[in-house]
Amino acid sequence: MEPTTSLSLNETDDYLSPGSRVKTRILLIDDDEAYCFLCKRYLRSDDSFQHTVISAGTTAEALAICAVDTFDCIVIDYRLPDMMGTEVIKMLREKMGHTMPPTIVFTADGGEEAAIEAVRSGANDFLAKRNVTQQSLCRAVKNTIEKGMLRKSLMSRVKELEAANQLLIKRNDEIKRFYHTVSHEVKTPLTAIQEFVAIVADGLAGPIEEEQKTILTYALESCEQISTHFNDLLELSRFETGKMTIDPKPCSIHDVFDHCVVAATPASVAKGITLTVNDQLQLPLVMMQSNRIIQVLSNLINNAVKFTDSGGSVTVDSELIDGGRLLRLSVRDTGCGIPETDTGKVFDRLYQVNPANDQQNGPGMGLGLSIASEIVALHGSALEVESELGVGSVFSFCLKTATDEDLLQVA
Ligand code: ADP
Repeated sequence: MEPTTSLSLNETDDYLSPGSRVKTRILLIDDDEAYCFLCKRYLRSDDSFQHTVISAGTTAEALAICAVDTFDCIVIDYRLPDMMGTEVIKMLREKMGHTMPPTIVFTADGGEEAAIEAVRSGANDFLAKRNVTQQSLCRAVKNTIEKGMLRKSLMSRVKELEAANQLLIKRNDEIKRFYHTVSHEVKTPLTAIQEFVAIVADGLAGPIEEEQKTILTYALESCEQISTHFNDLLELSRFETGKMTIDPKPCSIHDVFDHCVVAATPASVAKGITLTVNDQLQLPLVMMQSNRIIQVLSNLINNAVKFTDSGGSVTVDSELIDGGRLLRLSVRDTGCGIPETDTGKVFDRLYQVNPANDQQNGPGMGLGLSIASEIVALHGSALEVESELGVGSVFSFCLKTATDEDLLQVA
């Protein structure tokens, strides 16, 4: 469309067309007054928007206007008398930050270089000045404004999510602090109760009947259970605050197996479960803090016994992999298995697949695997699970075998 010059150049900058079109504010930065006038006329005929167009002929003028006014879109000439349009965009962005509206650059002849430069400066679109028509300008402004609106709503959504996330982090910290404080505060009086009950149960405070002794023994067992739970909570909070460290040394895995078998045999025998450790002869020493690995294996074996019915089996296997650099340990059971949807969650703090049923299988708070996976992580591995519902589960992790250097260091 050819320029129409019948209207006066002094026509007002602000134009509000009638109807219910969306109201927008456009800043037009171009020193060519006639061209500005023409663009305003083009924009005025837009069907979708009521554009209020403000024009500026120089960089200084544009900066001054932007300091006091807000816009939905900036249309700027690539070459201004005092500066390149792309430079002005950068300056405005620095000043306005995330409130900078989307921009369109008029390139003189549609040259590729100017277009690339425009996009690099952060412009959303560019138009070859000499080919600008009423349709192409209105379309470009409409698209750019819509993109800007979308960006704005995305940004406000991101802000909302960030705020929600911060709140969750805060709440999570509060919960962690709470259970750390409670566990800590309860530990001392609980230990005192245990001591006093033990004194009475042992007859040190005077003779007691057999029935009273039985009752006090139950009381002691309950105290022991509570104490275990609070110790688990305290331990987990030490992992979470990074206060838990390990000191791995070359150690025998056979000793760990022996320890775990002795500890798990009474429960497996009582439940009629076959506990087997396929202890290969002469496995190399592995790098570990053995009391911690005993804790992990015992937890896995206890769980396996806990979630396997009478007549089932629990098997501990060891296998050298990765050319002998790693020892893979696994605990396999023929128990109830874990639903596929839960296998990823069982390592989460306080997670139990079926809390009501789990309680029937024995005490637990859903902390054991969480602590075990932290210990395994400190040993540079990951605790993994494979499970099939009604068939059984396999929990496994790896330990590094001791190198000659490791052995020399302790020699
Ligand atoms: P808890 O100490 O309460 O047993 P854990 O963290 O050790 O908690 O285990 C989390 C959950 O994972 C358990 O409540 C149980 O539902 C499931 N689970 C763990 N080990 C097994 C297993 N060998 N077979 C079936 N389910 C298991």
